[in-house]
Formats: sequence, C-alpha cells, structure tokens
Amino acid sequence: MGLIVQKFGGTSVADAGRIRHVAGIIAETYKAGNDVIVVLSAQGDTTDDLIEKAEEINPQASKRELDMLLSTGEQISVALCAMALQSMGLPAVSLTAWQVGIQTNQTYSDARIRKIAKERIRAELDKRKIVIVTGFQGVNAYGDVTTLGRGGSDTSAVALAAAFHADLCQIYTDVDGVYTADPRIVPNARKLPEITYADMLELASQGAQVLHNRSVELAKKYHVNMEVVSSMERVPGTKVKEVVKVEKTNIGGVAKETNFARLSLVGLEDCPGVAFKVFSLLSRNHVNVDIILQSVGRSGSKDISFTCPMSSLEDTHRLLEENRDALGYDTVEVDDNVAKISLVGAGMMTHVGVASDMFEALYDAGINIQMIATSEIRISVLVSKDDANRAIKVVHDKFFDDEE
Ligand code: ADP
Ligand code: ASP
Ligand code: MG
Repeated sequence: MGLIVQKFGGTSVADAGRIRHVAGIIAETYKAGNDVIVVLSAQGDTTDDLIEKAEEINPQASKRELDMLLSTGEQISVALCAMALQSMGLPAVSLTAWQVGIQTNQTYSDARIRKIAKERIRAELDKRKIVIVTGFQGVNAYGDVTTLGRGGSDTSAVALAAAFHADLCQIYTDVDGVYTADPRIVPNARKLPEITYADMLELASQGAQVLHNRSVELAKKYHVNMEVVSSMERVPGTKVKEVVKVEKTNIGGVAKETNFARLSLVGLEDCPGVAFKVFSLLSRNHVNVDIILQSVGRSGSKDISFTCPMSSLEDTHRLLEENRDALGYDTVEVDDNVAKISLVGAGMMTHVGVASDMFEALYDAGINIQMIATSEIRISVLVSKDDANRAIKVVHDKFFDDEE
C-alpha cells in the first residue's frame, strides 16, 4: 500500500473502450489499497488536430491562445476517465492543472513547472478519491494556462510523483518498455529491463519520444521511482533508476531526431573572433544550437555549420541574413532534410572503437555522414533524412545484433 502515480498516454485513452480498460488498471491499483493520482494525455491525435484547427484560423496564432486551445484535449480525457471510474462505482474526481495549482513559469508552449500546490489533491486523497489530473499543462503567474511542450504529460506525472513523494510513478504507453531503439523502426530492438536516468535522459533528449526528456531530468533530481509499462498487455516494463546491473556493453540505445535543420555560413573570414561573433549573436537571440562544425581555413576563408530546432529555423535564417555584413560571410545554406542518429551509453567513450564501429556500420550501408558530435555519453552523426531509418537500423545492429 502506498501512493502511486499512473500516467496514460494518448493512444492508451484514444476511445471509450481504451478509457474503460485504463479505468480497470486504475481500479485494480486503488482496490489494492493504494492512493492513486492519475495523469492523462489528450485522446489519440487530439493535440495534432487542435493544432490544425488553429492553423486554419490563424497560422500566426499567439502562443497564449495556442496553449489555451491545446490544454482542452487533456480536460476531455480526465473527465471521461472519471466518469468511467464512477460508472464502476469508484470515487473519482478529475482536476485541471489550474484547479490543482500546478504553477509554471511564463513561457507559453514550453513552460517549466515551478511548484505544485498540494492542498486540493491531498484533500481528495484523504477522502479516498482517485484523483485524475490533466497532463501537459500548468498555470503561470498571470493566471494563464501554459503547456509544457509536446509529450509533456510524462513531466506532469513525474512532477506530481516528486511533489507527493509517491512510491512509484508508472508511465503507461503503447509499447511495453524502453527499447534499445524505437521498436517501430528497428523491429529487432531489445527491451531493456532497466535503464539509468542518465542514459534515459540522453536517449529522450536525442529523440526517443517514449519519455519526455524533462520528466527524466525531474525523476533523477527527485529520485522518483519510475517505470515504463504497456497499457495494453500485462508484461514487465522498464525501470528507470540511478544504478543498473552492468551490461556487457555500455551502450544504452540508439535514437533518431528529425525535427531540426542544418545552417551553413560559407566564406567567413579565417581570423580570431569569427565563431564568437556568430554564436554570441545566436545566443543573444535564444537560438538553441546543437552540433557545430567549423572547416579548416583555406585561403583566408572558412565555413561554419550548425544545427537548430525546426521551430526556430525561419527566425534564425532571417537573423543571419540581417547580420550578413556584421558577420562577413558569402552565403548561408539551409538544409532541413537532415536527421541525427545518436548512440547513447554512459562511459562508452572510454571503450576504444565505439565511434569507429558506428562509422563502419554507416560506411558499409553507403550512408554519408555530414557532421559528427561526441560527448562522454553519446556519439551523434548527421545524415540525410532519407537515410535516417536505415542508419538507425545498421547502427543498432552493429552493437546489439550479436548480443543474444
Ligand atoms: P504516449 O502517447 O503514451 O505518451 P509516445 O508516442 O509519446 O506515447 O511514446 C511512445 C512511442 O515512443 C512508441 O510508440 C515508440 O514508437 C516510440 N519510441 C521511440 N524510441 C523508443 C524506444 N527507445 N523505446 C520504446 N519506444 C520508443
Ligand atoms: N497531448 C500532448 C501532446 O500530444 C502531451 C502528451 O501527450 O504528453 O504532446
Ligand atoms: Mg508521450
């Protein structure tokens, strides 16, 4: 007996049948004597559909109004789920983030949770109610609804688990755990019984959408006992924790990210201070730069390439064009047909040959590497988007195929 937070994603609550099924899982947890806080996402493709609706009306809609609109998807789910539980004779109450008091910073569409007021949920739990909270949203200091970024319901769940010192935070989804690569792209990917917060954070940050990266960050910070499990079948999932049993390799998995573009400044002067000028301009304008590549200077000129999120591509391109004279380059090239494939695993850089094995796999498949970035815990390569799925498969198979 304890306090359990259970989060169900969009596919898991997609229609009436699924909501009833989810209500069954919640009921079982509750009847076992636990206090239960449930966090839900919007049903199925609701969030995408709402974005489309907004685009029909005003493609330049303000982020405040977008948040106001997108937050409605989760409100539908929680009300329906409470109704399903009530129809089973169980006491359930649905609450929006606003009713709970999930306070965030001001940033619409990408807000961070600052504080969670505990009184309302505590009072409901004390009455032995099942509390069902909207994921993905909060309220800022102006009293406006904010959203936490796509996939943010995971973060709502972990934040609630941390605030209430839950014994367990279960993330129920449409796969039965965290795999060594997205099982929808790499069918022979392996399910990991457990994964460290560090590897999971890196995988999530590099595009493995199974968990919102900030949910993992929070879980690590507040030592939340977290697991990813299937809402469809009863099989053991993946535990996300501080330390795991050492695996044969130090590779956690492979991830793919496509939601960004590469920009190249061609013909910059080859002298001190140029990179500083470029990246201080970008940082002053809050451009989130990822991989950077500078060519070796030749005949007094050099090129600098970098990647940035697709959402800031237009603004970044304009910014560079506006500052052409100040930066002193010839042309700016944009390529949005790119993908980043990342191999992730703590301490793998200390294992000689990991990078070379990864590059060999890509070479054998005839895939050209456009940029490379490495850290203690990952090696990322930029490839053409057309090669992305093949690249993730061959890199995955190089490291996991002979492991069985
Ligand atoms: P939910 O709606 O439940 O939040 P998401 O679609 O956000 O679900 O995340 C689950 C999806 O994440 C899976 O369907 C799977 O395709 C994808 N995914 C990407 N990388 C991985 C991975 N390494 N392990 C498991 N699933 C992954
Ligand atoms: N409904 C939101 C989204 O689609 C949040 C989530 O599902 O986690 O991004
Ligand atoms: Mg998700």
